Amino acid sequence: MTRLFGTNGVRGVVNEEMTAELALKLGGAIGTYLKKAKSRPKVAIGTDARISNHMLKSACSSGLLSVGCDVVDLGILPTPALQYAVKEKDFDAGVIITASHNPPQFNGIKVIDFDGTELARSQEEEIEDIYFGNKIKRVQWNEVGSFSAWDGAISLYKKGILSKVDADTIRKKKFRVVLDCGNGAGAVVAPDILRELGCETILLNCELDGLFRGRASEPVPENLGKLMKVVKEEGAHLGVALDGDADRAIFIDENGNYVYGDKSFALLAKYIVEKKGKGKVVTPVSTSSCLEEVVREKGGEVLYTAVGSPIVARVMKREKAIFGGEENGGLIFPEHQYCRDSSMTIAKMLELLANSEKTLSELIDELPKYELVKLKTHCPNHLKEKVLKKLVEKVKERFDKIDETDGVKIYMKEGWVLVRPSGTEPIFRIFAESKDKEVARELADRYVKEVNSIVSAMSQCYQLGI
Ligand code: MG
Repeated sequence: MTRLFGTNGVRGVVNEEMTAELALKLGGAIGTYLKKAKSRPKVAIGTDARISNHMLKSACSSGLLSVGCDVVDLGILPTPALQYAVKEKDFDAGVIITASHNPPQFNGIKVIDFDGTELARSQEEEIEDIYFGNKIKRVQWNEVGSFSAWDGAISLYKKGILSKVDADTIRKKKFRVVLDCGNGAGAVVAPDILRELGCETILLNCELDGLFRGRASEPVPENLGKLMKVVKEEGAHLGVALDGDADRAIFIDENGNYVYGDKSFALLAKYIVEKKGKGKVVTPVSTSSCLEEVVREKGGEVLYTAVGSPIVARVMKREKAIFGGEENGGLIFPEHQYCRDSSMTIAKMLELLANSEKTLSELIDELPKYELVKLKTHCPNHLKEKVLKKLVEKVKERFDKIDETDGVKIYMKEGWVLVRPSGTEPIFRIFAESKDKEVARELADRYVKEVNSIVSAMSQCYQLGI
């Protein structure tokens, strides 16, 4: 069956793949799916700050209304703020119109379950089946849904966050923070959170702008030059950058240095596990061993999942984990909600710093050092599964410890290698980690060659018709 949902909802360039017609039909399919469980579902809808937000929200809402769902418009807000509202209030589902960190010409549609989590793949498949099988069930004229607006989601969300950190201790420290919202939806929440926590804030790109004129939306080092500079110039304690829909937060230390997401993740995991004395932390197999080392040291345990934040969230829920997340700055605090949340991440990081006498750079320096090398190599989509199978056969003969949660992760004494087929592109991603950069590079190179040789042997077999 054709796939509509990618790893993060349905995404595409507006008026090319992502059209009003698609949003209308998808709204009908989502609503038809929801009606299997309830006769009149109540659906929250919201958007990020993109120019196409109203076009897609209106179309998707029309689709939902046409099949008999009641729709409540929450306006422009971060994805986690909509998720929180769905979880806390009597909504049966949520729809967020966003393309996260993608460039401004993109937009997307993501569906949220009644408990605030992203839909599982099996649920998305049911919606795809309705969408492609033309199984949308329109209702009679007198059963069409109602449409209303509610402006309470943002304050509900802010209160939720402030109640889950030690706000008094943070306030006493009077942190000086530079916040860069990248013109995204975080601008309606994060500046207030910092102010409420007694911070002196310097705001960059905190005006909503669907063209992202301040900076590109992805919080990677090449987009955060200004933030790094301002943190240093202003003598701030730290800087924070959010992505377009504000589910991810990336930090800058007091010297203006970029803190990679795996480091801030490990630092917060260390803090959280130490406080509890034990507990499970969940993350995909691609995350640095730095996390596992600090979690184990503090008496905790790391559970690995396949790549994708909805998968992490679901395993956290099942395993009653105390923390989880991804190395891209998307962290999940279960006492708050089971999804990535940038404002919660900022608040917790401030709490951590408030309880420490050290600066952010000193704390990062204390973490174990690992070197992660990320490479990719081409493989035709139709061969991916066979290539992976062959590789697994080969490595099983040579290594005792392998993990097949997502692709294959091979543990060896000098580090680990993860070889994983991409879900969307005709490539294998090859990650290698070691304490020594040269060793990591050599491991990654070796497995690129290994994958290439299997791909080339199999291509020849195909050509010969074997
Ligand atoms: Mg995002």
